[in-house]
Amino acid sequence: MKLAYQRILLKLSGEALMGEDAYGINRATIDRIVAEIAAVVRQGVQVAVVIGGGNIFRGLAPGAIGMDRATADYMGMLATVMNALALQDAMRRVEVVSRVQSALNLEQVAEPYIRGKALRYLEEGKVVIFAAGTGNPFFTTDTAAALRGAEISAEVVLKATKVDGIYTDDPKKNPDARRYLRLTFEEAIVNNLKVMDATALTLCRDQNLPIGVFSIFKPGALMRVVRGEPEGTFVTN
Ligand code: UDP
Repeated sequence: MKLAYQRILLKLSGEALMGEDAYGINRATIDRIVAEIAAVVRQGVQVAVVIGGGNIFRGLAPGAIGMDRATADYMGMLATVMNALALQDAMRRVEVVSRVQSALNLEQVAEPYIRGKALRYLEEGKVVIFAAGTGNPFFTTDTAAALRGAEISAEVVLKATKVDGIYTDDPKKNPDARRYLRLTFEEAIVNNLKVMDATALTLCRDQNLPIGVFSIFKPGALMRVVRGEPEGTFVTN
Protein backbone atom coordinates (compact mmCIF):
# COMPACT_ATOMS: atom_id res chain seq x y z
CA MET A 1 0.00 0.00 0.00
CA LYS A 2 1.22 3.48 -0.83
CA LEU A 3 1.89 5.53 2.26
CA ALA A 4 2.19 9.30 2.40
CA TYR A 5 4.13 9.11 5.66
CA GLN A 6 6.64 6.63 7.05
CA ARG A 7 6.89 8.22 10.49
CA ILE A 8 4.21 10.17 12.30
CA LEU A 9 3.89 11.88 15.64
CA LEU A 10 0.36 11.45 16.92
CA LYS A 11 -0.87 13.85 19.58
CA LEU A 12 -3.71 12.38 21.63
CA SER A 13 -5.34 14.70 24.13
CA GLY A 14 -6.36 13.41 27.50
CA GLU A 15 -9.95 14.32 26.67
CA ALA A 16 -9.88 11.87 23.77
CA LEU A 17 -9.56 9.06 26.31
CA MET A 18 -12.61 10.13 28.32
CA GLY A 19 -15.22 9.16 25.77
CA GLU A 20 -18.56 10.39 27.08
CA ASP A 21 -17.37 10.25 30.68
CA ALA A 22 -16.77 13.40 32.72
CA TYR A 23 -13.16 12.51 33.53
CA GLY A 24 -10.70 9.63 33.57
CA ILE A 25 -10.09 6.87 31.08
CA ASN A 26 -12.94 5.14 29.27
CA ARG A 27 -11.91 1.60 28.43
CA ALA A 28 -14.06 1.21 25.31
CA THR A 29 -12.86 4.57 23.99
CA ILE A 30 -9.19 3.78 24.47
CA ASP A 31 -9.72 0.42 22.74
CA ARG A 32 -11.29 2.17 19.74
CA ILE A 33 -8.39 4.60 19.49
CA VAL A 34 -5.85 1.80 19.79
CA ALA A 35 -7.58 -0.12 16.98
CA GLU A 36 -7.14 2.89 14.69
CA ILE A 37 -3.46 3.16 15.65
CA ALA A 38 -2.88 -0.60 15.32
CA ALA A 39 -4.21 -0.55 11.76
CA VAL A 40 -1.60 1.95 10.59
CA VAL A 41 1.21 0.29 12.57
CA ARG A 42 0.35 -2.96 10.74
CA GLN A 43 0.80 -1.13 7.44
CA GLY A 44 4.37 -0.33 8.49
CA VAL A 45 3.93 3.27 9.59
CA GLN A 46 6.27 4.24 12.43
CA VAL A 47 4.12 5.76 15.15
CA ALA A 48 5.18 7.91 18.09
CA VAL A 49 2.47 9.19 20.42
CA VAL A 50 2.45 12.19 22.73
CA ILE A 51 -0.33 11.75 25.23
CA GLY A 52 -2.07 14.57 27.11
CA GLY A 53 -3.41 14.58 30.63
CA GLY A 54 -6.38 16.93 30.60
CA ASN A 55 -8.80 14.09 31.45
CA ILE A 56 -7.08 13.73 34.81
CA PHE A 57 -5.45 17.04 35.67
CA ARG A 58 -4.68 20.33 34.00
CA GLY A 59 -2.35 22.92 35.50
CA LEU A 60 -4.80 25.69 34.65
CA ALA A 61 -7.94 23.80 35.75
CA PRO A 62 -10.32 25.14 38.43
CA GLY A 63 -8.93 22.51 40.79
CA ALA A 64 -5.53 24.15 40.46
CA ILE A 65 -6.73 27.64 41.47
CA GLY A 66 -4.54 28.99 44.24
CA MET A 67 -1.92 26.33 43.67
CA ASP A 68 1.59 27.16 42.72
CA ARG A 69 1.50 26.94 38.92
CA ALA A 70 4.65 24.86 38.55
CA THR A 71 3.39 22.35 41.14
CA ALA A 72 0.06 22.08 39.33
CA ASP A 73 1.89 21.57 36.05
CA TYR A 74 3.99 18.76 37.49
CA MET A 75 0.73 17.12 38.58
CA GLY A 76 -0.52 17.54 35.01
CA MET A 77 2.61 15.89 33.67
CA LEU A 78 2.16 12.97 36.07
CA ALA A 79 -1.40 12.62 34.77
CA THR A 80 -0.01 12.09 31.27
CA VAL A 81 2.09 9.21 32.64
CA MET A 82 -1.07 7.45 33.87
CA ASN A 83 -2.61 7.85 30.44
CA ALA A 84 0.56 6.58 28.78
CA LEU A 85 0.48 3.40 30.89
CA ALA A 86 -3.21 2.86 30.10
CA LEU A 87 -2.50 3.34 26.40
CA GLN A 88 0.43 0.94 26.50
CA ASP A 89 -1.71 -1.65 28.22
CA ALA A 90 -4.49 -1.27 25.67
CA MET A 91 -1.90 -1.73 22.91
CA ARG A 92 -0.56 -4.84 24.60
CA ARG A 93 -4.04 -6.36 24.53
CA VAL A 94 -4.08 -6.16 20.74
CA GLU A 95 -0.44 -7.22 20.42
CA VAL A 96 0.95 -3.86 19.42
CA VAL A 97 4.37 -3.57 21.04
CA SER A 98 5.04 -0.19 22.60
CA ARG A 99 7.48 1.54 24.91
CA VAL A 100 6.73 4.41 27.28
CA GLN A 101 9.41 7.07 27.59
CA SER A 102 8.91 9.74 30.21
CA ALA A 103 10.34 13.26 30.24
CA LEU A 104 10.32 13.09 34.05
CA ASN A 105 12.43 10.42 35.76
CA LEU A 106 10.12 7.71 37.07
CA GLU A 107 12.41 4.79 36.70
CA GLN A 108 10.20 2.11 38.24
CA VAL A 109 7.37 3.08 35.92
CA ALA A 110 8.77 4.15 32.56
CA GLU A 111 12.00 4.51 30.66
CA PRO A 112 13.51 7.96 30.54
CA TYR A 113 13.26 9.84 27.29
CA ILE A 114 16.31 8.93 25.22
CA ARG A 115 16.05 10.11 21.66
CA GLY A 116 18.37 7.49 20.17
CA LYS A 117 16.46 4.67 21.84
CA ALA A 118 13.14 6.09 20.71
CA LEU A 119 14.42 6.17 17.13
CA ARG A 120 15.57 2.57 17.39
CA TYR A 121 12.19 1.43 18.71
CA LEU A 122 10.45 3.19 15.85
CA GLU A 123 12.72 1.50 13.33
CA GLU A 124 11.87 -1.83 14.95
CA GLY A 125 8.18 -1.12 14.43
CA LYS A 126 7.41 -0.45 18.09
CA VAL A 127 5.12 2.38 19.06
CA VAL A 128 6.82 4.93 21.31
CA ILE A 129 4.57 6.70 23.80
CA PHE A 130 6.07 9.92 25.09
CA ALA A 131 4.82 10.74 28.59
CA ALA A 132 5.22 13.75 30.91
CA GLY A 133 5.10 16.27 28.07
CA THR A 134 8.30 18.26 27.75
CA GLY A 135 9.16 17.67 31.41
CA ASN A 136 8.82 21.41 32.04
CA PRO A 137 6.04 23.38 33.71
CA PHE A 138 4.42 26.21 31.71
CA PHE A 139 4.36 24.05 28.59
CA THR A 140 1.69 21.80 27.13
CA THR A 141 1.60 18.41 25.53
CA ASP A 142 0.87 20.16 22.21
CA THR A 143 4.30 21.73 22.51
CA ALA A 144 5.74 18.35 23.51
CA ALA A 145 4.21 16.92 20.31
CA ALA A 146 5.87 19.60 18.17
CA LEU A 147 9.18 19.16 20.00
CA ARG A 148 9.28 15.36 19.88
CA GLY A 149 7.98 15.43 16.31
CA ALA A 150 10.92 17.61 15.30
CA GLU A 151 13.40 15.55 17.33
CA ILE A 152 12.45 12.23 15.77
CA SER A 153 12.13 13.74 12.27
CA ALA A 154 8.47 12.85 12.00
CA GLU A 155 7.07 13.90 8.64
CA VAL A 156 3.90 15.23 10.21
CA VAL A 157 2.36 15.95 13.59
CA LEU A 158 -1.16 14.58 13.66
CA LYS A 159 -3.45 16.11 16.20
CA ALA A 160 -6.29 13.74 17.00
CA THR A 161 -9.40 15.57 18.11
CA LYS A 162 -13.12 14.93 18.43
CA VAL A 163 -13.84 17.19 15.43
CA ASP A 164 -12.66 16.22 11.95
CA GLY A 165 -10.54 19.30 11.29
CA ILE A 166 -10.51 23.05 11.74
CA TYR A 167 -13.70 24.95 10.94
CA THR A 168 -14.48 28.57 10.20
CA ASP A 169 -16.84 28.47 13.19
CA ASP A 170 -18.07 25.93 15.74
CA PRO A 171 -19.76 23.28 13.53
CA LYS A 172 -21.97 22.21 16.45
CA LYS A 173 -23.45 25.69 16.76
CA ASN A 174 -23.23 27.08 13.23
CA PRO A 175 -24.55 24.88 10.36
CA ASP A 176 -22.76 27.17 7.87
CA ALA A 177 -19.35 26.49 9.40
CA ARG A 178 -16.95 25.19 6.77
CA ARG A 179 -13.92 22.97 7.26
CA TYR A 180 -10.58 24.28 6.07
CA LEU A 181 -8.74 21.72 3.95
CA ARG A 182 -5.49 23.65 4.12
CA LEU A 183 -4.22 26.53 6.19
CA THR A 184 -0.88 28.23 6.55
CA PHE A 185 0.79 28.55 9.93
CA GLU A 186 0.47 32.32 9.60
CA GLU A 187 -3.30 32.09 9.07
CA ALA A 188 -3.63 29.78 12.04
CA ILE A 189 -1.53 32.03 14.29
CA VAL A 190 -2.95 35.40 13.19
CA ASN A 191 -6.57 34.23 13.35
CA ASN A 192 -5.95 32.40 16.64
CA LEU A 193 -7.47 29.23 15.19
CA LYS A 194 -7.55 26.46 17.76
CA VAL A 195 -5.12 24.09 16.11
CA MET A 196 -2.49 23.90 18.82
CA ASP A 197 -1.17 26.50 21.22
CA ALA A 198 1.05 29.25 19.83
CA THR A 199 4.31 27.77 21.13
CA ALA A 200 3.60 24.50 19.33
CA LEU A 201 2.50 26.27 16.15
CA THR A 202 5.58 28.47 15.89
CA LEU A 203 7.88 25.52 16.56
CA CYS A 204 6.24 23.53 13.76
CA ARG A 205 6.34 26.56 11.47
CA ASP A 206 10.04 27.17 12.11
CA GLN A 207 10.87 23.48 11.61
CA ASN A 208 8.63 23.23 8.55
CA LEU A 209 6.77 20.38 10.23
CA PRO A 210 3.20 20.12 8.92
CA ILE A 211 0.29 19.57 11.30
CA GLY A 212 -2.73 17.49 10.37
CA VAL A 213 -5.91 17.81 12.43
CA PHE A 214 -8.37 14.95 12.15
CA SER A 215 -10.91 12.98 14.16
CA ILE A 216 -9.66 9.85 15.87
CA PHE A 217 -13.33 8.83 16.29
CA LYS A 218 -14.06 8.74 12.58
CA PRO A 219 -13.37 5.11 11.62
CA GLY A 220 -10.46 4.84 9.18
CA ALA A 221 -9.62 8.56 9.29
CA LEU A 222 -6.09 8.00 10.61
CA MET A 223 -5.51 5.42 7.87
CA ARG A 224 -6.74 7.85 5.20
CA VAL A 225 -4.41 10.54 6.54
CA VAL A 226 -1.35 8.27 6.37
CA ARG A 227 -2.32 7.28 2.84
CA GLY A 228 -2.43 10.95 1.88
CA GLU A 229 -6.15 10.88 1.13
CA PRO A 230 -8.21 14.02 1.79
CA GLU A 231 -9.10 14.07 5.47
CA GLY A 232 -9.17 16.75 8.15
CA THR A 233 -7.24 20.01 7.90
CA PHE A 234 -3.56 20.42 7.11
CA VAL A 235 -1.49 23.34 8.34
CA THR A 236 1.69 24.01 6.40
CA ASN A 237 4.05 26.87 5.56
N1 UDP B 1 2.13 19.98 31.30
C1 UDP B 1 3.27 20.70 31.58
N2 UDP B 1 4.33 20.65 30.72
C2 UDP B 1 4.31 19.93 29.57
C3 UDP B 1 3.12 19.21 29.26
C4 UDP B 1 2.06 19.25 30.14
O1 UDP B 1 3.34 21.37 32.60
O2 UDP B 1 5.31 19.92 28.82
C5 UDP B 1 1.03 19.94 32.27
C6 UDP B 1 0.10 21.15 32.21
O3 UDP B 1 -0.35 21.45 33.52
C7 UDP B 1 -1.05 20.64 31.38
C8 UDP B 1 -1.16 19.20 31.85
O4 UDP B 1 0.21 18.82 32.05
O5 UDP B 1 -2.24 21.36 31.63
C9 UDP B 1 -1.83 18.25 30.88
O6 UDP B 1 -1.35 18.45 29.57
P1 UDP B 1 -2.28 19.07 28.43
O7 UDP B 1 -3.16 20.12 29.02
O8 UDP B 1 -1.40 19.47 27.30
O9 UDP B 1 -3.13 17.80 28.05
P2 UDP B 1 -4.29 17.61 26.95
O10 UDP B 1 -5.01 18.92 26.80
O11 UDP B 1 -3.63 17.22 25.69
O12 UDP B 1 -5.13 16.52 27.51
